[in-house]
Amino acid sequence: MLTLALGKRRSGPASRDPGTVLRDVFGFERFRGHQEEIVGHVLAGGDALVLMPTGGGKSLCYQVPALCLEGLTVVVSPLIALMQDQVQALTQAGVRAAALNSSLPPDEQRATERAMAEGMLDLLYVAPERLAAPGFLDRLERCRLALFAIDEAHCVSQWGHDFRPDYLQLAILHERFPQVPRLALTATADGPTRNDIIQRLALEEGRVFVSGFDRPNIRYRIGLKNNPRRQLLAFIQAEHKGEAGIVYCLSRAKVEEIAAWLKEQGVEALPYHAGLPPEQRARNQERFLREDGLVMVATIAFGMGIDKPDVRFVAHLDLPKSLEAYYQETGRAGRDGLPSNAWMVYGLEDVTKLKGLIARSEADDRQRQLDHRKLDSMLGYCETTRCRREVLLGYFGETYEGPCGSCDTCLEPVATFDGTEHAQKLLSAIYRTGQRFGAGHVIDVLRGQASDRAVELGHDRLSVFGVGRELSGAGWRSVLRQLVTLGLVTVDTEGFGALHLGEGVRAVLRGERRVALRHDPEPRPKAARRAARQAPPPVLDGATQGLFDVLKAWRRDLAREQGVPPYVIFHDTTLLAAASERPGDMDALAHLPGMGRVKLERYGPALLRTLREAGC
Ligand code: ADP
Ligand code: ZN
Repeated sequence: MLTLALGKRRSGPASRDPGTVLRDVFGFERFRGHQEEIVGHVLAGGDALVLMPTGGGKSLCYQVPALCLEGLTVVVSPLIALMQDQVQALTQAGVRAAALNSSLPPDEQRATERAMAEGMLDLLYVAPERLAAPGFLDRLERCRLALFAIDEAHCVSQWGHDFRPDYLQLAILHERFPQVPRLALTATADGPTRNDIIQRLALEEGRVFVSGFDRPNIRYRIGLKNNPRRQLLAFIQAEHKGEAGIVYCLSRAKVEEIAAWLKEQGVEALPYHAGLPPEQRARNQERFLREDGLVMVATIAFGMGIDKPDVRFVAHLDLPKSLEAYYQETGRAGRDGLPSNAWMVYGLEDVTKLKGLIARSEADDRQRQLDHRKLDSMLGYCETTRCRREVLLGYFGETYEGPCGSCDTCLEPVATFDGTEHAQKLLSAIYRTGQRFGAGHVIDVLRGQASDRAVELGHDRLSVFGVGRELSGAGWRSVLRQLVTLGLVTVDTEGFGALHLGEGVRAVLRGERRVALRHDPEPRPKAARRAARQAPPPVLDGATQGLFDVLKAWRRDLAREQGVPPYVIFHDTTLLAAASERPGDMDALAHLPGMGRVKLERYGPALLRTLREAGC
């Protein structure tokens, strides 16, 4: 229960009870995780830094206090698209919210400023540069202020990956309005970034709320690349037909190619990369947000500020450069908490490509070393035989006691074997052939293939010739990939991919260091059937799924009429609950998650009619 005693710096008395606001306005029964504690702390006038994973429910941490307190809550947000989404969603719930940013027509901006001055707004979203605009702080000074919320707070830190110089000015809020509580929120902050945020925003006196970073509704899977396009198609067809997803590729050319190919195969896919004309990029992004079930094939240029809650999968056709990037990209799946997939295929060529990029980069030695280390952690994650969630969270400094039961290594444990002898053979073959040849030739020599080249070079007379007949070509490539990952072999990325001996080889050759290798599953031609077998069991029975589809179509029409994305009207979670519970009257409707009072009045009757017409 919230204390109504006046906090030392509270700007206005809390006039509404947070639990009531949560139910009435947002349609949720109870707070999640730290939400209640955070709301209580803010209402008592405290500052705080909130670290919560994507989908954890950060927005309610300031939206609920904004509606409990008298006065205006100012939300600083770096991205215009995000602001618009939030404002539309709040407006749908009957909240007095607006945004100020450079993309709005001047008369709309003036109207918002007037509403702000007259105390007609509860929440105002602003871009950081707006705060610095002449006269804006003076204008704020004339308002009754309830709270400052600083979203995506990691943007203030140069350690973070999205540093925005404009965020540095936010320290001024504390200087100009010391009595107004401030709440900084982010989903991504390691130790140094966290300290940086606290220092730069002068939050030393505030509390820090840290939630675990696990995303329990995301299933992690990594397969070996053999025919990536087919593997991707099989995955989408078996598990995500008609659902929204993002496919990440490294290059623009590949993005275009994969998007076109998926389209030919009947998957609604759009390309997105920095090389497209800005209008087309904006149009594709807009379609992805507003239409149900589109697949966006994109470079990493896509995703920042995409708040679409119903992205059901994120697929990687190329290896990300670091686990930070991987976690951020896969984190765009399943914001709404429904089951989602993080899926990737990778192979030796990914490893050599990325190592080559780092080696050839303009960065200084220190940076290059750091990049190599990050890539090595990424590779370690790919090759791990442990629970993926354990490795992933461990990397971010969180102890997670696996097995999680919903990653591929938990579901199909990977067998390992003592591969020391294989490693010795491969390393010897690389050494004996002079560290001048690529994988193909070295493996030919091992397998005793007397190719013209081998004979010409006299390699058929080497002691290592034919010592590795026990493995197939694919088997040796698997060994090689793992030795590269372990750093025992390096690939010359400047020339033709010649293999060299890496560090620590001597101990392996002498038998002082054992090498454990994983058994790669054999690629099977019936990839689709295999994927289907691994798919999570369908959550919905046929009738419920049918009803869910009907409700989605109803929502789509509403969204189109109003020119907003469907998810600002209702999240999938609300429609799913309606499809499975089939409420028969307004009372029953009121209990659906996400059904606040205003939405109930506005959409309830039509929703009941739609359900009835569908035979409920
Ligand atoms: P974040 O900003 O942390 O990524 P959001 O604020 O967008 O997360 O919330 C993620 C999802 O969880 C949304 O669909 C939101 O409606 C839902 N949600 C948040 N808090 C609650 C709650 N207390 N009860 C039920 N659903 C919630
Ligand atoms: Zn696991």
